[in-house]
Amino acid sequence: MENNAEIVTIYVMGKKHNVPGDLTIMKAMEYAGHQFTRGAGCRGGYCGACATLYRKKGSYKLEGALACQKIVEDGMYIAQIPFNPAEKTTYSLDELRPDANTILEYYPELSRCLACNTCTKACPQDIMVMDYVQASLRGDIEQAAKLSFDCISCGLCAVRCPAEIVPYNVGQLARRLYARYVDGPSQHVLDRVKEVEEGKFDEGIKELKNMDKAALQERYETREKILE
Ligand code: SF4
Ligand code: SF4
Repeated sequence: MENNAEIVTIYVMGKKHNVPGDLTIMKAMEYAGHQFTRGAGCRGGYCGACATLYRKKGSYKLEGALACQKIVEDGMYIAQIPFNPAEKTTYSLDELRPDANTILEYYPELSRCLACNTCTKACPQDIMVMDYVQASLRGDIEQAAKLSFDCISCGLCAVRCPAEIVPYNVGQLARRLYARYVDGPSQHVLDRVKEVEEGKFDEGIKELKNMDKAALQERYETREKILE
């Protein structure tokens, strides 16, 4: 398909490319010949796999974005970051208590938070990251869980944090504690689990498993869409 957009110049890991200026970073990199085998996922801004750092022409400032969402700009220098170096601690939710001590026990680095707000400024989801980190420190599990609800674990906050805190792991623990101990199980989830256990979906799953690729694709494309 013809693209009449203005051509802009970008640099991917230092290499110069001329690309249409209406493409996202991800599409521009593909236009330039890059094949994503890592660092790409849903392409819709939901999975957080394509965290990317860039610098604009004439600016020393490193900025972060999701490559599938951010439109390229002329003179942009782009570098994808390796998967975030987050050591995720393991725990058994059934053995935890929903309080600040629990979060600090698993993520003691939280106490180093400088309240600098760098994490909030780095978040492509516009999440109040510092606020949920601080809520976690205070043991306000509900606040931490709610403020971090839209986190997609892209890691851009962790990359920028001067105290080497990994906010998204903290938010995930807060949400798990909230769901397990504060909010409790949702009735509709319990109902659905019961339906699954009683075999309500067995026939449908069997039918899907017996379909060939073309039929599956047709079914997928004509499915009822609940999110647009
Ligand atoms: S809170 Fe951090 S990991 Fe979550 S979406 Fe924002 S920047 Fe990404
Ligand atoms: S960037 Fe790190 S130190 Fe600064 S407010 Fe966020 S979590 Fe705290």
